[in-house]
Amino acid sequence: MTDLHVSFEFFPPKSEAMQAKLWASVEKLRPLSPDFVSVTYGAGGSTRERTHETVSRIIREAGLPVAAHLTCVAATKEEVDGVLRDYWAEGVRHIVALRGDPPGGPGERYVPHPGGYANAAELAAGAKKIADFEISVGCYPEKHPDSPSQAADLDMLKRKIDAGATRAITQFFYDNDVYLRYIERVRAAGVKIPIVPGIMPITNFNGLRKMADTCGATIPGRLVKLFQNLDEDPATRQLIAATVAAEQCLALAEQGVKHFHFYTLNRDDLAYALCMMLGVRPQAARKPEAAA
Ligand code: FAD
Repeated sequence: MTDLHVSFEFFPPKSEAMQAKLWASVEKLRPLSPDFVSVTYGAGGSTRERTHETVSRIIREAGLPVAAHLTCVAATKEEVDGVLRDYWAEGVRHIVALRGDPPGGPGERYVPHPGGYANAAELAAGAKKIADFEISVGCYPEKHPDSPSQAADLDMLKRKIDAGATRAITQFFYDNDVYLRYIERVRAAGVKIPIVPGIMPITNFNGLRKMADTCGATIPGRLVKLFQNLDEDPATRQLIAATVAAEQCLALAEQGVKHFHFYTLNRDDLAYALCMMLGVRPQAARKPEAAA
């Protein structure tokens, strides 16, 4: 039996059709016994309510441990604390504490809300004051675009750990060396918490390029070449995406990575296949193996 751990990230759906797709994905991935599933949090009231509804439904109906993402954007500390109290009351025990992006999108200068938490470290400390939440945070193998240097970025990670974070999940990356060098740097700096690689299988290459530009993640030239001239050929794109992600995950597992966090974009297909490749099987299929 594999000793690998997995977790899956979902986003709150906007329509009935997207809701059905998300729920089908939760059902498909649930038997893989993820350590947790996480639900992203966006700016604006209705998006926030959708996160809350999605988190509640997963706890109620799927019985999976949920990590609810929470940001500091456009909210006072009292408002954020209210969300934290509601989550705790509903059985949420794990928060992914994030600063969030400026309301105008990444690339604009981030200005904290005058009465709000200034960054993820402050938010993590605030959450710990409300209840004994498990806290995960984001981290950036290629450094966050707002960080003046890798050293400043690492310093921010340490502040988040001092505030109570016990796990960091990375921004997506496609060059494993970037992740492995980052691990060397953070360990050399005395960081001991798990740094879980965030795996983003490529479903829409053009969309990914835009996202990578704004969040400072590099897309290696070899991937640009691989996806060239395939805009009208989704079947081939999907096969290449699966191969690229499988190669990435298997190489990371060989390097000793024990926990993979999948950015599913609410799709189960690639995440499920990657788990199969890694030897993470549905519980029912795992049991006889364990007994053997
Ligand atoms: P922080 O760690 O607070 O700060 C990021 C960087 O800003 C720091 O490295 C530092 O350089 C600089 N900085 C901030 N404050 C200070 C300070 N006081 N002094 C010096 N430097 C400072 N966004 C969403 O809106 N919703 C989500 O659900 C979501 N989920 C995410 C999940 C993961 C795993 C990751 C990696 C990111 C996610 N994001 C999400 C994106 C995230 O909100 C952005 O990357 C945001 O710009 C930074 O958030 P953070 O928590 O990493 O910020």
